[in-house]
Amino acid sequence: MITTNLDIETIREDFPILKRKVNGYPLVYLDNAATSQTPKQVINTIVDYYSRYNANIHRGVHSLSQEATDAYENARRKIQNHINAAQPYEIIFTSGTTDSINLVANGFTSFLKKGDEILVSAMEHHSNIVPWQMLCERTGAILKVIPMNHEGEFLIEDYAKMLSKNTKLVVCNHVSNALGTINPIEQIIALAHEVNAAVLIDGAQAAPHIKIDIQELNVDFYTVSAHKICGPTGVGILYGKEEWMTKLPPYQGGGEMIAEVTFEKTTYADLPHKFEAGTPNICGGIAFGAAIDYMNSLGYDAIASYEKELLEYATERLLSITGLKIYGTSQHKTSVISFNVEGIHPYDIGTILDKLGIAVRTGHHCAQPVMDYFNIPGTIRASFSFYNTKDEVDNLVAGVEKAKKMLG
Ligand SMILES: *Cc1c(COP(=O)(O)O)cnc(C)c1O
Repeated sequence: MITTNLDIETIREDFPILKRKVNGYPLVYLDNAATSQTPKQVINTIVDYYSRYNANIHRGVHSLSQEATDAYENARRKIQNHINAAQPYEIIFTSGTTDSINLVANGFTSFLKKGDEILVSAMEHHSNIVPWQMLCERTGAILKVIPMNHEGEFLIEDYAKMLSKNTKLVVCNHVSNALGTINPIEQIIALAHEVNAAVLIDGAQAAPHIKIDIQELNVDFYTVSAHKICGPTGVGILYGKEEWMTKLPPYQGGGEMIAEVTFEKTTYADLPHKFEAGTPNICGGIAFGAAIDYMNSLGYDAIASYEKELLEYATERLLSITGLKIYGTSQHKTSVISFNVEGIHPYDIGTILDKLGIAVRTGHHCAQPVMDYFNIPGTIRASFSFYNTKDEVDNLVAGVEKAKKMLG
């Protein structure tokens, strides 16, 4: 029995897509770590924006422009409050986590020199690896990998030994998208600060499950993508601590980010506009705010405890299948299960599950080094959200059993 304060059936009514059929079967959507589905509260916000007050922001004197500006800036404050950042201008709207990380990596170019070190965990998404490799190429800095163990856990003692006066940056995800591991970011941040290194935490996979307190974490940079937390695609945020964001040079040049432009010299706008060149995803930002309201209306505690029960139930049921192995077995994880069935390629199982209307992810999950560590080409990843049910877990298990019979 799964007990929860959430009324899952009513919640499911908020998500029109969950009524869909796929290949003749009711959709079982278990690819939430890739992107979450969108509740009608967020969809309505988007429709309302384009139906009533679509206008460019920050420059217009007309009413529509002011309404759009107010809504956009209000969304920024919602996000600020949600993560308890000290200032609204520490929230920079970006196109998502990838964009946020590139903004910081680009900004650090002038801060690093040959021999400086960037530490990165072994379980990163490619978007938290490649921008740092590019930064190292530009500056001669060295990228060093913090190891993990076979449970898929960050090795804090090894990390502590790697820190030195050469360490300028530590980058790590809060939650691994490939394994579900929740990393001990409080300790990671505190240890980095002892050697005066800055810390960027990729929060893309944590935001749908964990409510953070930026000021308590005392983190320097934190990233979120709206589309993983019931918002639209193509929008996200970078949280950047004021002292860093003041020092960091602008990322892109253009409109909105300037104070004054002449052909001789341009001066830049204050935060956050310095980092927001061009017309932003206005509707997306406003809808991101609506997604945060939606998540908070359910409550993160209720979400976490329900998802934990789903995770435990799914783990137990899947492990009853002989030959099935789970990757990412930490006690501290979100509702992500990466697995393989002995002798069968993950892609083949994914294809059969799709024929049954069950959406999972197969492959390396943009985390090839994690797959290399376990010496596998990829996994099948089922990732659960608060709108998933125990029946859907049963469907998944039956689907994997069926695939195994067909392919084994
Ligand atoms: C999804 C994800 C990203 C990339 O996010 P985008 O929205 O595609 O930019 C980065 N890191 C982790 C851990 C993710 O789950």
